[in-house]
Amino acid sequence: MYRAESLKAEEFISDEEIRQTLAYADENKDNEKLVDEILKKAEKRKGLDHREASVLLACEIPEKIEKMYALAKQIKQDYYGNRIVLFAPLYLSNYCVNGCVYCPYHAKNKHIARKKLTQEEIRKEVIALQDMGHKRLAIEAGEDPVNNPIEYILECIQTIYSIKHKNGAIRRVNVNIAATTVENYRKLKEAGIGTYILFQETYNKESYEKLHPTGPKHDYAYHTEAMDRAMEGGIDDVGLGVLFGLEMYRYEFAGLLMHAEHLEAVHGVGPHTISVPRVKRADDINPDDFDNGISDDIFAKICALIRISVPYTGMIISTRESQSVREKVLPLGVSQISGGSRTSVGGYAEPEPEEENSAQFDVSDQRSLDEVVNWLMKLGYIPSFCTACYREGRTGDRFMTLCKNMQILNCCHPNALMTLKEYLEDYASEETKEIGMKLIERELEKIPNPKVKQTASEHIHDIAGGKRDFRF
Ligand code: SAM
Repeated sequence: MYRAESLKAEEFISDEEIRQTLAYADENKDNEKLVDEILKKAEKRKGLDHREASVLLACEIPEKIEKMYALAKQIKQDYYGNRIVLFAPLYLSNYCVNGCVYCPYHAKNKHIARKKLTQEEIRKEVIALQDMGHKRLAIEAGEDPVNNPIEYILECIQTIYSIKHKNGAIRRVNVNIAATTVENYRKLKEAGIGTYILFQETYNKESYEKLHPTGPKHDYAYHTEAMDRAMEGGIDDVGLGVLFGLEMYRYEFAGLLMHAEHLEAVHGVGPHTISVPRVKRADDINPDDFDNGISDDIFAKICALIRISVPYTGMIISTRESQSVREKVLPLGVSQISGGSRTSVGGYAEPEPEEENSAQFDVSDQRSLDEVVNWLMKLGYIPSFCTACYREGRTGDRFMTLCKNMQILNCCHPNALMTLKEYLEDYASEETKEIGMKLIERELEKIPNPKVKQTASEHIHDIAGGKRDFRF
């Protein structure tokens, strides 16, 4: 039985409900009247439910798809403006006891180099990341209770936050580690993490069990109910995602939205972010072995429909995607991207020798952070290193309120400009700096509240004079 407010995985992600949803979407994909009604509803910016959104995903009428894209662009503009937040992943350890068939960290892989960073090595990685200009990290680790216990993760977080190198600082650490207990989530919260991210990989229980044949991750319910435990442990910013390519994308899309509806129904706040990774080539992994790969066009449609369906949820695109794919989906609703990423353990301080590959997947976008910042600005975006919300306690529904009240231009916009100014002063190449300074001048004019505009201008002036870390 399907119940969004149930705490049981098989009830809030009901297979039967998903199958009925897909049948309903198939029946109605050419029903122009219904498609128009759904698009009309979406224009109100209150989101769509999984059934409505699934009809739009199934619909192949070109003019309607154009409308979906136009609406996604408009919603992105209204709620997020032209800011794009930047982050980098930091791989702590690739020891793993699970058997995930798509991931090169699986326990049976005997030839991948296994590495676990010491606190000294983390220090070096963090200094290298700070020297690039990063302020926000997502830490990643395999699941291994002996090699990567929660105490190790907590110690790493403490080390990361403690490092102040030149003008650098990591101001927000998001965490992507395996599903764990309420008690451990509480400890992560106390350690000051930002978002807890956990990809569902697939919402299809039968496929899930096949794709995770061994190890603790095999338990579908434990994995799927992880966000409820995280929220019970006090973490109110959680990040969802599926690994596209493993299962039928329409099934995953409906599951993803049902998960978001479930969090809203039970905890009163939806996911803070949704990630849309696709399976990539990696050490002993060939993406062609999976039958459900999606084209770039379908990928773009999924991004647009996530934006329309959950307007207040951030959307993340990693360097799994190439520059051109990123360019295509940025205007459709993406709010965060990684830049200058390494997916190997210890890859920032020193590049890995080829024979020692410890990477989780091949990176498609291999540009430096400066190149990414430069490119974003040339496309008309404001690269942002802002971490203000979480540091001001604006997490969970408090961030959503800011977003829903469209206060972004008086808050996020100046914060983006101030953090960009820090980047330009401390890390940018000459060309990037020149473009950025002009952009800041122009963008300051868009702040509606005169007092905020005045204060932001003063802070930007003070940053040039050496001061750091202002925020609204
Ligand atoms: N071990 C934790 C877990 O099980 O959730 C942490 C996650 S892992 C370091 C990060 C994510 O990378 C996984 O959740 C998975 O979706 C993704 N991933 C694994 N193998 C991949 C591949 N070959 N291509 C692209 N993404 C992959």
